[in-house]
Amino acid sequence: MDATEILKSNAAAAAAADAAWVNPRDPAKAVGLDGLPLRSRRAPTWKGVPNEQWDDWRWQLSNRVNTLEEIGEILELTDDEREGLSADGKFRVDITPYFISLIDPKDPKDPIRRQVIPVGSEQQAFTAMMEDSLGEDRHSPVPGLVHRYPDRVLMLVTTQCASYCRYCTRSRIVGDPTQNFNSKDHEAQLDYLRRTPQVRDVLISGGDGLTLAPKLFEKILRGLRDIPHIEIIRIGSRVPVFMPQRIDDELCEMLAKYHPLWMNLHFNHEQEITPEVSRAVDKLTRAGIPVGNQSVLLAGVNDCVHIMRKLVHKLVENRIRPYYIYQCDLVEGSGHFRTPVGKGLEIIEGLRGHTSGYAVPTYVIDSPGGGGKIPVMPNYLISYSDHKVVLRNYEGYISTYEEPEHYTRHDASKCADCRAARPEPGQEGVYGLLAGHQMWIEPKGHAEIHSRGNTEAHRLQDPSKWQPLGIGGAIEGSAGAPLKVLQATAAAQDLPPGTEERPKEGEPTAAAHGELL
Ligand SMILES: *Cc1c(COP(=O)(O)O)cnc(C)c1O
Ligand code: SF4
Repeated sequence: MDATEILKSNAAAAAAADAAWVNPRDPAKAVGLDGLPLRSRRAPTWKGVPNEQWDDWRWQLSNRVNTLEEIGEILELTDDEREGLSADGKFRVDITPYFISLIDPKDPKDPIRRQVIPVGSEQQAFTAMMEDSLGEDRHSPVPGLVHRYPDRVLMLVTTQCASYCRYCTRSRIVGDPTQNFNSKDHEAQLDYLRRTPQVRDVLISGGDGLTLAPKLFEKILRGLRDIPHIEIIRIGSRVPVFMPQRIDDELCEMLAKYHPLWMNLHFNHEQEITPEVSRAVDKLTRAGIPVGNQSVLLAGVNDCVHIMRKLVHKLVENRIRPYYIYQCDLVEGSGHFRTPVGKGLEIIEGLRGHTSGYAVPTYVIDSPGGGGKIPVMPNYLISYSDHKVVLRNYEGYISTYEEPEHYTRHDASKCADCRAARPEPGQEGVYGLLAGHQMWIEPKGHAEIHSRGNTEAHRLQDPSKWQPLGIGGAIEGSAGAPLKVLQATAAAQDLPPGTEERPKEGEPTAAAHGELL
């Protein structure tokens, strides 16, 4: 062989070796002993079902289990679960064959089991329990569209899911086919969005949009993309968890037409991340969709630093970015899942600094009554004076950061971005807050709300129905006298800093009056 031939044959050998090499760390490429893609366990009830059917999401949907008898054949039910499954008026039960197969039939504490199999205590009421704990209905200008933040909306396109989570925050409507949204509702939602140019981000949720007929779902995406001011579309879905079979090439090709599109999934425990899930998420990311995860902190499922650390590590291994951990909402049926807030803080403290920043989600409480999501942070900023910031790291090590001695203030009067009109008032951050500005969402062009048959005055025109939600404004909907904004009193303003009168022992402070809270 001459030199060129040797080079050629070396290149060919290298190419062949490269083609044969499989990255052993890529969870989407995992194979079993038979050399075929790994599969998770399947309950004996469905042993005879051919793979072709099992892998078909329509088969999974139409073979879901929901009765005590069906579920009793798959799992060894406890008395508590029998009671839960027999209760009248319970939140809907429906579980895909794939998902229920992941449960250990003999272990009543199985973390997947607790999420989908009802127990008797689900029926117990608790202090502060609410039907619509996030006040979503009050913030809906048209059915299914929740406009709570100025620049983004939550668009509920269906009440149906692939399976039903016992702690569902929207159990007042989810699962109920008589409350479903139809094409007419979707059109009304799109119409509102067309007329509301401040909305730049639409979060499609439900229910779960990915359970809709593919054509209908695409019609919604198309409708959104025909609105020029919508910058990003987000899909919140638990379908890849309950039914990863749904994530096929056809769906991914369709979704990729509507970029920029992001997706948030909902895993609560690492056992939900199966080989099927890894392949589904791989497909989504290959379609250019950044994938995130939102977990709900649930007693008996993931209320443990070690369980959460395993979960977030497995998420990032699958290129899923942990986005939020939610405190369990004050919703009917979720009493036995609730944990103290300290548990969430402990989990965040156990992650921040101890693992990659990528793996640390933000811990949030969706404020009861409808104030939106509020981050709950452990104290890393210990104190802050005029020139010094005192910081604490994850090991308890304290350091100080010296503020700059010279800082040329950003000149708002010369900044085009500062001077540009904002679509809504009260967006000046802390300056607006101190000036007592209210931030509110005032959609234009909707004099009436057509809400399921009754034509009511639009909530924005009727103060008894709705109060501007805002900084310094009422969060709970007790319309009437607007809440006062915390302001320094004239007397206090005359005093040198630090010498203002303090509240007397036992006297409530301004915050305790609820003026700013
Ligand atoms: C969660 C939520 C959003 C999105 O909030 P992000 O913090 O941006 O993820 C928007 N609207 C409503 C009503 C929500 O509940
Ligand atoms: S997937 Fe989401 S909407 Fe559906 S039941 Fe679960 S929490 Fe509720």
